[in-house]
Amino acid sequence: MHLARFPRVRLFPAPTPLERLDNLTRALGGPEIWIKRDDCTVVATGGNKVRKLEWLLGEAKELGAGHIVTQGAVQSNHVRQTAAAARKFGMTCTALLEHRVDTNDRDYLSSGNVLLDTLFGCRIEYRPSGLDMNAEAEARGAELRAVGEVAYVIPGGGSNAVGALGYVSCAQELVQQADELGLVIDRIVTATGSAGTQAGLVVGLEGTNANIPVLGIGVRLPRERQEDNVYRLARATAARIGLKGDIARESVVANCDYVGAGYGIPTEGMVEAVHLLAQQEGILLDPVYSGKAMAGMIDLIRKGVLTRGETVVFLHTGGAAGLFGYVDALTRS
Ligand SMILES: *Cc1c(COP(=O)(O)O)cnc(C)c1O
Repeated sequence: MHLARFPRVRLFPAPTPLERLDNLTRALGGPEIWIKRDDCTVVATGGNKVRKLEWLLGEAKELGAGHIVTQGAVQSNHVRQTAAAARKFGMTCTALLEHRVDTNDRDYLSSGNVLLDTLFGCRIEYRPSGLDMNAEAEARGAELRAVGEVAYVIPGGGSNAVGALGYVSCAQELVQQADELGLVIDRIVTATGSAGTQAGLVVGLEGTNANIPVLGIGVRLPRERQEDNVYRLARATAARIGLKGDIARESVVANCDYVGAGYGIPTEGMVEAVHLLAQQEGILLDPVYSGKAMAGMIDLIRKGVLTRGETVVFLHTGGAAGLFGYVDALTRS
């Protein structure tokens, strides 16, 4: 793999920290738990989209784009990070926000990520739930081009074969860190949504021949659809970087048992996980992704699926800004 062949901008100081969670490890009595702090990617309070945006905005800049169009749910972390990063390069950002979560909660609708979007001067347009949001974004991009703007459309979550390079690169970074520490990683656990994070990791680990399995914990779709999405994107990403050999279908594994009632809807496990990480480690998870992923990992430890003697790295994908959209769910006792 030789990622320098692709355009890139720099948005954060790498590597992000890789830390051992002694208190959580002790509290759960299972595997040794480490955390890869991709919540610490700096831009707009950080998160996993910043890595993807290095490659997406690299391409946008090369194409001379002045206007970024993207989409997400109302409390989208991706939109918040995109709106901020676009500003750094003098680009306008238009975001289509889907009312994907059916709620009248004032915090959900106007605090957290939405508040930050407005501070970054993002042009927000709302859409009802259930539309093909990437098609909506493409249509908005086409309208802007028709009036002479150079618009660059970023799909939801920044998840295409360009954005996924961020997690190919993260896999290289993590393996190098572990090698320097003499740390043998048995498994990586992370939230999986629009698929770019897991797809990039799978390709990057394949490309470094690391032999470390990745477990994605789903936050929206049933397992089969989630795995199909990750696998499709992993293959497209592998093709883009000219990876030798195929991505094995078995290397794409998602557990979608921790979604609860649906995308962005709180679960008891998520609320417990957010409190546990905050109080054991002083680390903030988020209600939609990392909180549910951690809830899944905790449950798999309690069920003895992940066991003592293993070393697990939880990839923290960020999202704490979203906590402010979920005040009621997190403070109800
Ligand atoms: C977007 C997001 C994810 C999911 O990553 P994908 O690449 O979309 O699968 C996980 N955690 C947080 C906090 C996110 O914002």
